[in-house]
Amino acid sequence: MNDSLVWLIPVLVILLLGVIAALVIPRRPRSGDTDALGRPAGQVPGGDSLGGAGSPGADSAASGVAQDVPEAAQSRLIRLRSRLARSGSPLGARLLAVLSRDHLTASDWDELEETLLVADVGAGPADELISRLQTRVRVLGEPNPAAVREMLREELVALVDPSMDRSLNLGTGDGVPGVVLVVGVNGTGKTTTIGKLARVLVAEGKTVILGAADTFRAAAADQLQTWGSRVGVETVRADRDGADPAAVAFDAVKQGKARPVDVVVVDTAGRLQNKAGLMDELGKITRVIEREAPLTEVLLVLDATTGQNGLNQARVFSEVAGVTGIVLTKLDGTAKGGIVIAVQRELGVPVKLVGLGEGPDDLAPFDATQFVDGILG
Ligand code: GDP
Repeated sequence: MNDSLVWLIPVLVILLLGVIAALVIPRRPRSGDTDALGRPAGQVPGGDSLGGAGSPGADSAASGVAQDVPEAAQSRLIRLRSRLARSGSPLGARLLAVLSRDHLTASDWDELEETLLVADVGAGPADELISRLQTRVRVLGEPNPAAVREMLREELVALVDPSMDRSLNLGTGDGVPGVVLVVGVNGTGKTTTIGKLARVLVAEGKTVILGAADTFRAAAADQLQTWGSRVGVETVRADRDGADPAAVAFDAVKQGKARPVDVVVVDTAGRLQNKAGLMDELGKITRVIEREAPLTEVLLVLDATTGQNGLNQARVFSEVAGVTGIVLTKLDGTAKGGIVIAVQRELGVPVKLVGLGEGPDDLAPFDATQFVDGILG
């Protein structure tokens, strides 16, 4: 080698070591990273997740990949509560600010009403709350921050209605699986919610099969399968795009019975087609499921940020699908938390679960008191 180039050797060695180090040392995912399926970084088997559910990595007998241990459901809403008050214009803080003023005037009450309407509480419930608060403020006399807060808390909890049964009906557990059908418009978070729900059920010690009956959206089955495989849950899917969704639902329930598993969760396509088309499709799915096993829950997934439009969709789905529970997604960081109250009033069906983030364990059983405490910050 030319003597004048000898100095190049150590430089090349250092460069080579740098390249090897970059390839070998694993990079920690940054928040905001997404993988090929559009899921947040860390959602790979054995990966660390946003929700803080660690992944000790028990081996899956079936796939040989490490599996997650999902977080138990009970403590989730408490962990996620702060996300309810973290929006630009938090409902609770605005209500408390107005109610703490001395001698509330008509314009103060108007401001309160407007705050409730902006937060999607709905006109009827907002009126009710205002008139109850007016009565109580009169009795209260001089406002004292703690008393005002407690009064507002009690009235909001009453409006959300703590007496509703929000447990998931998963059947009798006598060898025939309960079937949970999940409906809702695409983009509301349906597939993500089913993935998260599978984790909740696994954390409760239940055996689960997923049915990918959203055969309309090509990536939906892959997405579901990825979620399921992370917690050892099998996904029944069609062998081609555009297959009959009812046939997939049927196969999933049949397999669920054959195993048997405790719960079969069935995804559906959320096309915003006309009401008759939707009714046909969901009607057929419902009928084939009920021939095999009890349809114990029909969960409607609703995006909390979509306001009146979301409520209109909810009405259509509840008319055609006999909805038994609502899952409100994307409640993290929205000022529209009042939709919980409006949608329950509108459909007469309880909110059973809430989505409070994109992390795998950011789905929590809904609880009226904890929700209101979250809103009040
Ligand atoms: P689908 O079309 O209804 O099946 O919707 P996806 O499950 O694909 O979700 C659509 C988007 O909403 C994805 O980017 C999800 O990560 C996101 N998403 C779902 N639930 C939540 C939630 O509770 N909070 C937030 N911030 N994003 C969510």
